[in-house]
Formats: sequence, structure tokens, C-alpha cells
Amino acid sequence: MKDSHYMVVNNARRAVALPEPRDLLRQFTASRPFRGRLLTAAAVAICTTLPGVVRADPSPDGRVVEVPFVPDSGSLAIYCGKLIDGLTTTAHGPTTVVVRNGRIESLVAGRSAPQAVSSLDLGEATCLPGLIDMHTHLTDRPGDTADLSVYYRRTMEEQLAIARENARATLLAGFTAARDVGTYVGWADRALRDEINAGRVVGPRMQAAGFYLTVPGGGGDLVIPGHPESGIPPQVRMGVARGPEEFRRKAELAVAGGADLLKVIASGAVLAYGGVPGAPEMTPDEIAAVVEVAHRHGLKVAAHAHGARSIREAILAGADTIEHASLIDDEAIELARQHDVALSMDVYNGDYIDKEGREQGWPEEFLRKNLETTEAQRQGFEKAHAAGVPIVYGTDAAVYPHGLNARQFTRMVQRGMTPMQAIQSATSVAAKYMGWADRIGAVAPGRFGDLVAVQCDPLEDISCLERVDVVVKGGLVFRQGTQAASPH
Ligand SMILES: [Zn+2]
Repeated sequence: MKDSHYMVVNNARRAVALPEPRDLLRQFTASRPFRGRLLTAAAVAICTTLPGVVRADPSPDGRVVEVPFVPDSGSLAIYCGKLIDGLTTTAHGPTTVVVRNGRIESLVAGRSAPQAVSSLDLGEATCLPGLIDMHTHLTDRPGDTADLSVYYRRTMEEQLAIARENARATLLAGFTAARDVGTYVGWADRALRDEINAGRVVGPRMQAAGFYLTVPGGGGDLVIPGHPESGIPPQVRMGVARGPEEFRRKAELAVAGGADLLKVIASGAVLAYGGVPGAPEMTPDEIAAVVEVAHRHGLKVAAHAHGARSIREAILAGADTIEHASLIDDEAIELARQHDVALSMDVYNGDYIDKEGREQGWPEEFLRKNLETTEAQRQGFEKAHAAGVPIVYGTDAAVYPHGLNARQFTRMVQRGMTPMQAIQSATSVAAKYMGWADRIGAVAPGRFGDLVAVQCDPLEDISCLERVDVVVKGGLVFRQGTQAASPH
């Protein structure tokens, strides 16, 4: 075999030598019932997405390595039977979305076949922008909540192995962008983000917080009863601080390390020992110190706040989004509206925690606090939405399995949103509060070619977003039909 050859193992586990990556496409499409033609880069992206489909080796020694793909390099004309663009409140009829070099170039009514661009025929489907989850913990998973001390022992590499699976499940579920609002093993989310951006790992576009900014023993500080504090490794306590000056220093550390947003734990947490969700943990001055650093560097602040007082204090201190907002009151709702602060309310996961968390043996304290906040949060959601407060789609995935992110849509519609409003909360509204309205959140010229398609009408039945059929990110097809790993 010559140096230029690629070694490919296809689905049938048959090894074949190919002269160049372009031939991966022919090999791949010949063996699979693709409706559309795909460019080389797209084929490579799909190949790396599908288990066991392709591994390739540019070296002659028979060593098998995975083919990297170039992110955001796809050029594709996607013909959609119906299009929800994320911005306008009514759906468009048949439309061709032209993506060149990863970005949306134009939207053309009807079917169009631009030159030098492969096409994907989704004439039977509804297309919508790639979905955005504003509150995830991509490095963590629910199975570890029963014994959080695993984070004391885990290496970065072990954490990343879990993170990569989560990232892949998230993208294949149609979430082409996500904020990671904290990881116990400090900076694990940044490492994951960098691997995705380099094309080595399949996952959503990410904003990473790096670590939690939290008071000693607070909701982001992993102090577990019965474990001596001296035995806690420093990487799980990177953001623990007391007083505005110390918080300012930790915030600067996060910014310098490459965080995309800062996450403060303003109030007690549900899934942490000893915390009281309704009670403040950080002072207004401490929150304001973090906000000052973040805004000076052009970053947003996500404030974890369950209780009404913490919500009010975080809004007045300048936070950009309030996470959970479970026990929000009328005054805090009015304040959020006046200050145009968005709420990221995880109104689905209470169901999962109560059922699965109980079966998995999660601490009794966590289960009790979950029950105390679940219904109150849903009522607060109804009120806040009715009052006109912006609401972004945030699920707290990791509390429940990654890849099931879309389950929350149904709850949001049950609690007062129209399906279109729920979709916009996970597209254009989310993009605005990420500071990424110029690049994601809508199927519109200039934005990334991030798009999903479903074989049903989400405006009739919002739960159909749980069955995403096609996922395109940066013009590259990552999922088409059942030909991708199902969420775990
Ligand atoms: Zn969270």
C-alpha cells in the first residue's frame, strides 16, 4: 500500500484501501441508502459518527487511526419541505437552504440546485435551526450523582472519555450548540470544547464555564459529609472563594484560562449536600465582582439562583441569565422583565430525578429538595412567561442523560408556551443570551449551517423534536435517519 492510501474498515468489517478520502464517500454511499449526495468532508464526518463504519489510516504500516474532519467546512443545498427559521413566527413553505463553507449563503423559495454544491433532499421534512441547550454539564452524567466522591478520584482523561460520549449524544439529538455551565473536574469542559473545535470529537458548539464560582461548602463546592476536606483534590475546588476580592481573582483566572462565560452559584443547590435552594450563598457584592470581570472581557454571567431573593440580587448585580429560578416571585419576575434578563428554567428534569434518581439510590436530601422545587418552578415558569420575561431553553442535562435534551419542550408547551415560542427559546432567544446571535440560532444568511430536520410537524406536536431525523452542523451531515448512534 502506498503512503497516500487510506485504510478503511467498513460496516461489514471489510478492510479496503482507498487512494484518497474522497473515495470514502463513494464507498460509503454505495453501501448505504442515501437520498442525497454528500461532499467528501460531510462523508468523513458521518463516517466518524457511525460506530464501526470507518477508521482510516494515512500511513502504510497498517496502524488504524480515526479520520479527523474539518469543522464547518460543508457546502450543501438542503431542500426542506417546510422551514422554521427561528426568527419569524410562521413557517416557510418549500425552501432550499444553501450552505457554503460552513455558513448559510442564501434561502431560495422552492427547489434549487446551485452549482458545485451537493444536495440533500428533505422534501418530506420540516427543517429548523440547530437547537441550543443553555444549561448542560457535558462532562458529567446522572449515574455518578449517587456517589459524588467519584469526582475526587477521576483524572482529566477519564472525565473526558465520559464527556466525549455525552457530546456526541447531544449533537445527534439535534443540539448543535450548548453552554456547559460547570464541571466538577475543573476545565474538563474547556478540554472537550477544544477537541470539538479541532474536529477530533463529534459534539455541539460549546461555551465552557471552566469551573463553578461558589462559596466554601456552597452549591458548586464538592464537600461531601464524611469525607475530610483535606482529601479533596484542588481541581474540584478551583472556583471556591469568599469575599468580592477573592471572587474577582477567581473570575480573572477563569477568563485568563479561556472560559466563554462565568457561572456563579448565588443560592443553595438541590443536588448538593447541605445547601438550601431558597437561601442565598453569595452576597450581592460577590456576584457584582464576578459580573464586573466578565463584562469587562465581553463574557456573560450565568447565575444559579433558586430562591427569590438570590434571583433579585443576581439580576441587580448584572447577571445575564438566571439558572433554575425555581422559587421566583412576582417581584423577581418584574425585575427580570425590566432588566431583560433571561430565565433558564429546567422544567423537565424533576420528573427524571424523582423516578430514576430514587431507583439509582441518590441521597434522600437531594430527592426531597427536588420535590420542593419541581412544581413551584413550573408555576413560576408559567407566570414569568405570561409576564413577558425572556426564557431560554436550559435542561441541566447531566442531571438526566445527555441526548434526551428535547424532552423539556413538551413541559414548556404544557406550561403556556406555543410550540413556536418553545422553539425560539431554544434557537434565536438562546443565541442572543449566549452572545452568539451573529452565528447561530436561526436559518439565515451569514449564520453557521446548523440545521435539524424532523419527519413531523413540531408546531402540531412539539414532542416530535425528540425524534430528530437529520442533524447538520457547519454544513456537515452528522445524522441522517437511523444511521447514527442512538442516545444512551
Ligand atoms: Zn446545572
